[in-house]
Parts: sequence; C-alpha cells; structure tokens
Amino acid sequence: MRIATVADGQRVWLGVVDEDAATVQEVTVAAAGVADPAIGFIVALEAGSKPGFAADPVALDSVRLLPPIRKPSKNIICVGKNYRAHAAEFTGSGYDSSAAGPEDAVPEAPILFSKAPSCLVGAYEDVVVPWGLSEEIDYEAELGVIIGRRGRNIPVDSANDYVWGYTVINDITARDLQSRHKQWLLGKSIDTFCPMGPSIVSADELDAHDLELSCWVNGELRQQANTRDLIFDVPTIVAVASASMTLEPGDIIATGTPAGVGIGFDPPKFLARNDVVKVSISGIGTIENRIT
Ligand code: MG
Repeated sequence: MRIATVADGQRVWLGVVDEDAATVQEVTVAAAGVADPAIGFIVALEAGSKPGFAADPVALDSVRLLPPIRKPSKNIICVGKNYRAHAAEFTGSGYDSSAAGPEDAVPEAPILFSKAPSCLVGAYEDVVVPWGLSEEIDYEAELGVIIGRRGRNIPVDSANDYVWGYTVINDITARDLQSRHKQWLLGKSIDTFCPMGPSIVSADELDAHDLELSCWVNGELRQQANTRDLIFDVPTIVAVASASMTLEPGDIIATGTPAGVGIGFDPPKFLARNDVVKVSISGIGTIENRIT
C-alpha cells in the first residue's frame, strides 16, 4: 500500500495511491485525536482497522503532494556516515568534526542527529535557501523509515515489526553552518531543507536492504548506491534509537546518504539557485525539488 498526504486547494487529506501512481483515493479511517492524517491512518491500521474510502479516486496530478508525515512526534532522526564510501569522502572533505582522520572515518556505532520537523516539504516543493546565512548547500539522497508502532528498547530481531513503511528523503544540508557550529542541527534544520515523499510505501511491498538509490543535480548523476551497503541496517538503527527514546507511530528516520554528495568533489559542487535535485529509490518513487 502507498499512502500520500495531499492538498486539493481546500483541504489536506490522506489517500491511497494506485499501483501506477496515477490516482489517489481519500481514506476515511483514522485514529481519534491524531492531528496528522497519515499517523492517524497508520495507528488505526495497526489497531486492526481496515482501510475505508470516502469517494472516487482523483488524478494524482490534480492535487499537491505534501510531506507524507507533516507532524511527527519528534525531530526527524538522522544517521550520519552510514555508507563506507560516503564516510571516507566526508572525513576527507575537511567538514567532518566527528573523526580525527581517515582511520576513524567509518563509525563503530551509529551517529545519530536530528532535523527539526519544520524543515519538511513535499516531493515537488521548493527548497528555499537563506543565501547570506549559508552559501554551501548540499544534497543527501536517503531512504526514509516510517515507524508504525510505539516502542522502547526494541530488540534488533523484532525491529521490523515496528516499521510501517519507507519513503524518499533529501537531507539538504548547509555545510558552512554544519562546520561553523560544530554540531549539525542548525545546518540540517533550515526551513524547507527536508524534501520527502512522494508517498510512503508499506514495508510488506519492499526489501528495504535491496533498493537502488540515485540522485541527480540538473540531470547529472551524482549518487548511485544500493541500500544493501548500509553500514548499520534499519533494525540496528531502530534498536539503537529506541534504547534512548520511545519511538512513536509516524516518527521518521533518515538512514544516511551514500557517496557523491557535493563536498565529495574537489572542488566541492555546492547547489546554486535554480538547480534541480532529483532523488529516486526503486520501488518507492522520485522526488524533485528546485533550489531557490
Ligand atoms: Mg544525511
């Protein structure tokens, strides 16, 4: 099942997207008291409800795609340096305050940080850069995980039971802020710096550890990898995160980016106004966002 949060000019609603991504049909099932339509639907399904539909499907291109989850319970949980080749390029770039040198480029435990949810935007919305605050804007194509069940201290071997589905995320980053402030929150959390979508695909439809992930800037292929090359897989990330904090339905985890980000090039290839960044993951879909 694929779910998308959309706006039709009058209201925001959640729908199920058909197999060809041509139509979207509004769902009526939602847990009481949950403000986010996607989270309300996920909670209801997890409680045993069956999807119900309000009306006939409408053309997907007649509505605007919003981020599938708009109000997660907490910041977007992100994993840093989770592909070997990217860990090496990041440490070698001079922007990595988490490693002293090449010998500790690959982390021994997952590096977790977060993005404020106020930076979420939809699959085709603009990334609005506050030029002057930052001039070093970079892209990071990532597999996003959507949590389906509340859990604390989730064991690795049952972690998949807590994952509802997957989405596409671009973890846009202001490298100069990341470097200047030593910690990553400010450079990662600028409003509009988390394009996400186009939908959430339920976990039963995918093998999360065999997905092709690609990123283009203005049509030039920059990143291409398979999620089988994640250093820390999804169950490990869920287990590590939930050892510290209770995960809630609708929580978002960005699993890390492969090699080929802008600072991996010499000289770096930062994004400029009017660049278009496209991120695609097999079995999920494509997001495409203009830098303004
Ligand atoms: Mg990232």
